[in-house]
Amino acid sequence: MRTRDDLAALAHDALRTLGVPDSALAEDGPVLRARSPLVDAELFSVRATAPEEVDDVVDAAHRAFLDWRLVPAPVRGRVVKRLGELLTEHKETLADLVTIEVGKIRSEALGEVQEMIDICDLAVGLSRQLYGRTMPSERPGHRLQEVWHPLGVVGVISAFNFPVAVWSWNTSVALVCGDPVVWKPSELAPLCALGCDALLRRAIAEEGAPDGIHQLLLGGRDVGNALVEHPQVALLSATGSTRMGREVGPKVAARFGRSLLELGGNNAVVVAPSANLDLAVSSIVFAAAGTAGQRCTSMRRLIVHESVADELVGRLEKAFASLPVGDPFEEGTLVGPLVNERAFTAMQEALEAVRIQGGEVLVGGERADVGADGYWARPALVRVPHQDGIVLQETFAPILYVLTYSDLDEALALHNGVSQGLSAGIFTSDQAEAERFLAPDGADTGIANVNSGTSGAEIGGAFGGEKETGGGRESGSDAWKGYMRRSTNTINWSGVVQLAQGVDFG
Ligand code: NAD
Repeated sequence: MRTRDDLAALAHDALRTLGVPDSALAEDGPVLRARSPLVDAELFSVRATAPEEVDDVVDAAHRAFLDWRLVPAPVRGRVVKRLGELLTEHKETLADLVTIEVGKIRSEALGEVQEMIDICDLAVGLSRQLYGRTMPSERPGHRLQEVWHPLGVVGVISAFNFPVAVWSWNTSVALVCGDPVVWKPSELAPLCALGCDALLRRAIAEEGAPDGIHQLLLGGRDVGNALVEHPQVALLSATGSTRMGREVGPKVAARFGRSLLELGGNNAVVVAPSANLDLAVSSIVFAAAGTAGQRCTSMRRLIVHESVADELVGRLEKAFASLPVGDPFEEGTLVGPLVNERAFTAMQEALEAVRIQGGEVLVGGERADVGADGYWARPALVRVPHQDGIVLQETFAPILYVLTYSDLDEALALHNGVSQGLSAGIFTSDQAEAERFLAPDGADTGIANVNSGTSGAEIGGAFGGEKETGGGRESGSDAWKGYMRRSTNTINWSGVVQLAQGVDFG
């Protein structure tokens, strides 16, 4: 395992390689302490933004907007194309920062950067496809059309667990849509943010785009709040806990801003009697224990048919017990550390609560000794008698609750019986059952899969969830429309006044 000094040196090198100026590091003034969960220690400090600076930053982004909105979208796409090239060139380096700051295993950290490259590709294509429609007018000599225009400054607030990908989903799409971005990353991942900002600044300079189209605010909730309340932030895209969304959403609504909320999940998989259990076991283990249970799409509930419950749970117990927990830089490690002590405490409190509720921890849950400071936990598999109390909440740690069912209606009632609505899966070989799961009275989530787990979405689809997950959609499909304003135009070329609906006004 690397020491604190090794990690600090590696992080310094990575920042230099990515082009982050030395002036970003600071020991006094407003600072943020960059930390690593691999050693549970501070690495070094970076310059932070004071809340009172936010006004000027948003103002600079807004000035850039006035020019950027007039640059043709395919030309805007060139900045994103260049960003994708730079990310490809620096994939390993940025992945190092992701592992250092949030503890993702190597393969997942590289996957996160790959996701950034993929969304850049998608956004570049999109820059030539921001289609509006032409509708038949009811009046002769009239044309009715809609066009999509840039919206304004997009504020992005992101969570620690996808420290770079969520930024790229928002930023690549916002930029081709003609919107500048002001980013307030998680206070737990400032180094990742500095790396992304440096690469994008380079792409902006090389393509001759206005400087101000990307701005970084490093800080905590107070800085985030200044962005939330700023009247010039046209769209606030906020990713994080439901608690955060509950605070942020009403504030943006009160000033008639637009918000895109990507909040907590409590995702479940249903395993039916006809399921291929080999497929189910591997998919469930990745969904529940991958990223140490710290994905919004992590699987937190298993709803298994009583006829296959013993066999499946037995196999999962073995798989959980043999999961390699340890240094995320080491090949073969599948579970890295929890992000901090608070996460570990929340996990222990949840396990205690579930025991009081009559649940039984079948395997895992304890702190793993990996020969380093930091909070490594063994993923826990917990049988619960009912779905209530702590099972209804998102605990951001690797705990999988097991519930059983006897018919599909009961499984669906359990599945939908939580307040979050992000991601779902069913394992079945029965097509009718799979279709029912995807039907209007099936899973009530934004993402629903068949024979596939809850996590690991591709960027081509629109990503997001319902209920307390916030209702936002980002990434692929038509999510770009959230970053633009629609203008409906009527063009009268008939030379005479004709009112709609046959109204006669003399
Ligand atoms: P968090 O809510 O603690 O913080 C997220 C971000 O919001 C941080 O940048 C934080 O500084 C900021 N923030 C918090 N309160 C704020 C406030 N009142 N005003 C302005 N900004 C505020 O979340 P976290 O611990 O970083 O991340 C884990 C949570 O994020 C989980 O609930 C997870 O499910 C969720 N998440 C959701 C998605 C999704 O797409 N649905 C993706 C990733 C993470």
